[in-house]
Amino acid sequence: MHGTPALSTGSVTLRNARVPGAALGRVGSGAVETVDIAIVDGRIAAIRPAGPAPVAGPSHDLDQGLVLPCLVDIHTHLDKGHIWPRKANPDGTWLGALLAVQSDRERRWAAEDVERRFDFALRCAYAHGTAAIRTHLDSAPPQHEISWALFETMRERWAGRIELQAVSIVGPDTLVSPAELDAVARQVKASGGLLGGSVAVFERSKEAMLAVVEKAGELGLDLDLHTDETGDPAAHALLHLAEAVLETGFTGKVMAGHCCVLTVQDERTVRATIDKVVEAGIAIVSLPMCNLYLQDRQGHGGTVRTPIRRGVTLLNEFKAAGAVVAIASDNTRDPFYAYGDLDGVEVFREGARILHFDHPQDAAWDWLRALTSAPAAHAGLAYRAVIAVAPPPISSCSAPGTGPNSIPARRPTASSCVPAGRSTRRCRTIANSTT
Ligand SMILES: [Zn+2]
Repeated sequence: MHGTPALSTGSVTLRNARVPGAALGRVGSGAVETVDIAIVDGRIAAIRPAGPAPVAGPSHDLDQGLVLPCLVDIHTHLDKGHIWPRKANPDGTWLGALLAVQSDRERRWAAEDVERRFDFALRCAYAHGTAAIRTHLDSAPPQHEISWALFETMRERWAGRIELQAVSIVGPDTLVSPAELDAVARQVKASGGLLGGSVAVFERSKEAMLAVVEKAGELGLDLDLHTDETGDPAAHALLHLAEAVLETGFTGKVMAGHCCVLTVQDERTVRATIDKVVEAGIAIVSLPMCNLYLQDRQGHGGTVRTPIRRGVTLLNEFKAAGAVVAIASDNTRDPFYAYGDLDGVEVFREGARILHFDHPQDAAWDWLRALTSAPAAHAGLAYRAVIAVAPPPISSCSAPGTGPNSIPARRPTASSCVPAGRSTRRCRTIANSTT
């Protein structure tokens, strides 16, 4: 969009804006509506069906340009991001990533180093129009003290621009170590975070999940766990998590990320797991770009072969069963994902292709909620990520053509993010890239 008007002060009506019904708070809508949006001092004062009648005051014709809420990136790793130039993944595998990050963390993750990369990641996300981020923080002692203190500083520094939440991530051995888990959980509690961890194939998986759920219950914390990020059908961490939630009567919020293993398990196991997840009220977040990079990859030690699985979990099935579902960035330019830029529109576009939510086309736009209102509501964010009369920041993109395939098919050739309360500025990274 060229010549975007200033939105933070004065009045202006954005005419002929195309807005997905899902962005207007209509759950289950795949429609895209053409509306006029009246903005007064950076706040939405009215939303009306677009029409030929003149409007009072200044107006700006978006010419069917797409308007979206600023996005919510509910699963990231801002403390890991951007170490790739100094610590690459040696073979592109999940284990290669784990060992590379561990080595880098133990040598280099002083507060100044984490802060520099964390801040750069936030500036990337902000430029792409993201308004809220949840980041996992590597919290194996003694890193927990360094990273959580820094997180508190960054949350304060970025308040009003990006709303931040943080989750501890530790390996399964820490979850079954009562003293270590307690130390991490108390740090999380003191910093206002969520409790988490990563469990895939682990003999004591059931015990680990019970321990983390009980600890969260004891301290009144919400949960967000990495579960079953593997193609080994022996992994059952998500099922164990759901069982632990139900057995303990845990009442906090629970999110589970990855859950890749469901694509290689038998139908009976899959059905039982999905049913338990829905019964336990667990929200599922899929990380399509990271899964595509790591899952089903064979290291250089073996014969190089073409992957035959995408790695993503059964997100369509979870949604159909009634679970809250989200998609998110995960890692950016670190050994777990070599690419990425905290670009929510890229996540949405790639998610549509990888997870096949582009069909049926008349329902595709409902998936916008997976990067906006669904994770915002689950996470209890102040930012609700819907376009409504009152406060939300909005991001407007010129998108000539807003059919159900427009985001998967193309990036806007020129655009501006115009969040309420922010100064109007070009989003160069969006404007300059086309695919
Ligand atoms: Zn992750």
